[in-house]
Amino acid sequence: MNVVLHWFRRDLRISDNTALSEAVRQGDQVIPVFILEDALRTGPDVGAGRLAFLLQSVESLRKNLAELGCPLIIRSGRSEELIPLLCRETGARAVFANKRYEPYAQARDRRLGETLFRAGVEFKLFKDAVVWEETEILTQAGQPYTVFTPYSKAWKQRPIPAPRPQFKPAAPTRPVPAVPSEALPLDPAVFGHPCTQSLPPAGERAARETLRQFMAGPVLEYGAQRNFPGVAGTSLLSPHLRAGTIGIRTILREWQQARLSASAAQGASCEVFLNELIWREFYTQVLCNFPHVTKGAFRPEYDRLKWSENHEHFAAWCAGRTGYPIVDAAMRCLNATGTMHNRLRMIVAMFLTKDLLINWQWGERYFMQQLVDGDMAANNGGWQWSAGTGTDAAPYFRIFNPITQAEKFDPAGRFVRQWLPELAAFPAESIHQPWTDPLYFAKARYPARMVQHDVQRDLCLAMFKAAKGASELNP
Ligand SMILES: Cc1cc2nc3c(=O)[nH]c(=O)nc-3n(C[C@H](O)[C@H](O)[C@H](O)COP(=O)(O)OP(=O)(O)OC[C@H]3O[C@@H](n4cnc5c(N)ncnc54)[C@H](O)[C@@H]3O)c2cc1C
Repeated sequence: MNVVLHWFRRDLRISDNTALSEAVRQGDQVIPVFILEDALRTGPDVGAGRLAFLLQSVESLRKNLAELGCPLIIRSGRSEELIPLLCRETGARAVFANKRYEPYAQARDRRLGETLFRAGVEFKLFKDAVVWEETEILTQAGQPYTVFTPYSKAWKQRPIPAPRPQFKPAAPTRPVPAVPSEALPLDPAVFGHPCTQSLPPAGERAARETLRQFMAGPVLEYGAQRNFPGVAGTSLLSPHLRAGTIGIRTILREWQQARLSASAAQGASCEVFLNELIWREFYTQVLCNFPHVTKGAFRPEYDRLKWSENHEHFAAWCAGRTGYPIVDAAMRCLNATGTMHNRLRMIVAMFLTKDLLINWQWGERYFMQQLVDGDMAANNGGWQWSAGTGTDAAPYFRIFNPITQAEKFDPAGRFVRQWLPELAAFPAESIHQPWTDPLYFAKARYPARMVQHDVQRDLCLAMFKAAKGASELNP
């Protein structure tokens, strides 16, 4: 009998799962496995919220599989040791999994593949998390794209694949071997990471409901609404895409349906949403093709930037106490919920790098520790874009003004008031620059601005010019 282990990683779902459906097609019996890797609960980038969301997603997967009479085997430790061990325990001759794109995960998979090969076990990896991989969309010269717009054009010229069928285990022809499984705690505090964030509901059902709600209306207004943090204008799918509780093909099929019945204006909104999904794939291919981005700037000349090492300023940014209301409200929202609107991510990232002149890598790490959707490719891409050091970066001289950004995207101050109750009494005219309203400011118990934007802007431009000048002298 051909026993296949399906190793669940960032694909915690039974529908639209490429490796899982291939395991059913190619094996006589599929044994689903999840390993709580040591690295998921230790290390500098672990986030309590993301870990809690993962544990809840695994629990939901376990229940879904149990309903199909297919118990999920759970172990904790190192997959490089546990997967070969599980093959021996179950008699599996093949391990199927969906591909991961982070450099550390790819190195781990290569090592594991060699170990399994020596043991006579096949290790098959499938494309699943993205529609098009790093080698599939290349320029005419056969090079990876480093600019988004031509990449997205090439992406859109290709057909959109259909979702994979829902998992239906074949009736076992032989009793399932009794393999021990561990109980998984739902509370990450057990691993020393107490979670204080209020998280969105986890699991495949919650993911489908999130998708349904978005496609039932907001996608049609996405183009106009997606930039306003106080408005429910975006899909909120990122934690699910990160945990793999929804498949990208499922999202695209629903998107196609919505697009079909949309008016011209609504169709344009749908296209804007598709672009965001393509940004996700763009950054995934950047990470794969240029893995040095995990260690430094995409453009090496910007590794010469002389960043500030002001830990006090960094701590104030993390805590939401910079004196700039839109930055502080966004950071307090992140700390409390593990999520932050895209417009705010750009504002706080620009503020850290271009107003506080602090290295984008400090912010990148802090985001990974806080974000439920923390994803190496998208996070690195977003930070390098904001800092001006990346592939398709905003040029370094494009510097967001946190006050005008706030006035444009939170005009009535609704979002700021929600997260900074100490500013609740301020009128809309001054809420984004409370220091201009001495009457209220004296009573507000809100910090004074730690830096002045106009002054910092000039310092930032000088810092970038110095790095560029040095690179021209030492190419
Ligand atoms: C500094 C910075 C850090 C970021 N860190 C992350 C991160 O760790 N994880 C993450 O998923 N996104 C990250 N983003 C991108 C973006 O902010 C989030 O994907 C988005 O806010 C998630 O909300 P949503 O699901 O409602 O998005 P929607 O607007 O509904 O977009 C749909 C999906 O498209 C993808 N997407 C949207 N925008 C981007 C983008 N700019 N880059 C890559 N993918 C995108 C996401 O998967 C998202 O769920 C970051 C952006 C910046 C500027």
